[in-house]
Amino acid sequence: MHHPGRVVVDLDAIAHNLHRLREAAPNALQMAVVKADAYGHGLLPVALTALEAGSQWLGVAQLSEALTLRAGLDRAGIPRTSAPVLTWIAPTQAPWARAIESDLDLSVSWTWVLDEVVAAARKVGRPARIHLKVDTGMSRAGSTPEDLPALVDAVARAVQDGQVEVVGLWSHLSRADDPSPDGLASTGEHLETLLSAEELLLTRGVRPQLRHLAATSGILWHPDTHLDLVRAGIGLYGLSPDPQVATSADLGLRPAMRIEAPLTSVKRVAADRPVSYGGTWRTPGPRWLGLVPLGYADGILRTASGRAHVTVLTGDGPLDAAQVGRVCMDQFVIDLGPATPATAAPARVGDTVVLVGDPAAGQVGADDWAEAAGTINYEIVTRVGERLHRIHQSRRTPCA
Ligand SMILES: *Cc1c(COP(=O)(O)O)cnc(C)c1O
Repeated sequence: MHHPGRVVVDLDAIAHNLHRLREAAPNALQMAVVKADAYGHGLLPVALTALEAGSQWLGVAQLSEALTLRAGLDRAGIPRTSAPVLTWIAPTQAPWARAIESDLDLSVSWTWVLDEVVAAARKVGRPARIHLKVDTGMSRAGSTPEDLPALVDAVARAVQDGQVEVVGLWSHLSRADDPSPDGLASTGEHLETLLSAEELLLTRGVRPQLRHLAATSGILWHPDTHLDLVRAGIGLYGLSPDPQVATSADLGLRPAMRIEAPLTSVKRVAADRPVSYGGTWRTPGPRWLGLVPLGYADGILRTASGRAHVTVLTGDGPLDAAQVGRVCMDQFVIDLGPATPATAAPARVGDTVVLVGDPAAGQVGADDWAEAAGTINYEIVTRVGERLHRIHQSRRTPCA
């Protein structure tokens, strides 16, 4: 038996969003970023949908995710040449040989990575496909301008020796959702730094096939950063990289994830009764309270306690209900309204509670939970627990 809560993923919305993002960056190749189990939406169904929708590339953070993805694509009969996969995080002594044999593209920021990759390529007997990463202003991964010349020289030697093929030169924008003058200046600096790195590579005889910089916010708001390829993450899931700047609806994106659970209790509770651990909320009068079988173990952030709302699909239509008291590990309480002797229960056990739905349809969305928890929509969708079953829906093709 499954957990009563479920995550319904609309694959048609994902295909729609990818088309919408392609319209925003029509001249670049499109990478669908499917790290973190496709932002909680399910790695393989999303990856296959993206390829079908025309994305030419797939990207994941961890090497382990890339190996899982390649194995899944192989099983699905997708030729490796039509599904290049870039991975950008790996520990020292990673299984590089397996990565090369799996035809994965590897990000290289540091000479120690290059050394390990070259050693593995020698062992496997074929060149590794690498994307050279430059630190263009985030101070996260990437070679700093100071370290870059030595790395490029080492790469040039590895290319000459036939140990690596330089597929990409890339970086990541840190403030592409920031429309302030400082934010715009930062994005401009990132781009300039990447283009100077390209100059350096060319003078040393290394010619990358693809330059890439933009993620969703770059795709939407900085056309000059599109270059040869763009990496679409949050937008493909139908969420805005910054709802303060523009909402999903403003951007023509459709949220693909719905999180829902059936009410497990509807009861009258007298006035001034404490609710949940610590009794942080008391009934302001006799109330109808509902119980939802999802908690922080399922990714319902406890920091949102007392600030979030849900949409209850009752027999009389949708009902907005406040989440009250502390979110527990496995459940939380909602306030369904006043319970005067005359009022009938506004909802019934078994009615569906939508925690994350489509705001365009008047439902609570990931952005609402993010605001309630003081975080970003990325964290809401990626935190959804493994305990919840993912159901993938598509009108075009039935999907497991
Ligand atoms: C996560 C990630 C992306 C996707 O970012 P979104 O804002 O979700 O589009 C792109 N590139 C890198 C390096 C990332 O880590």
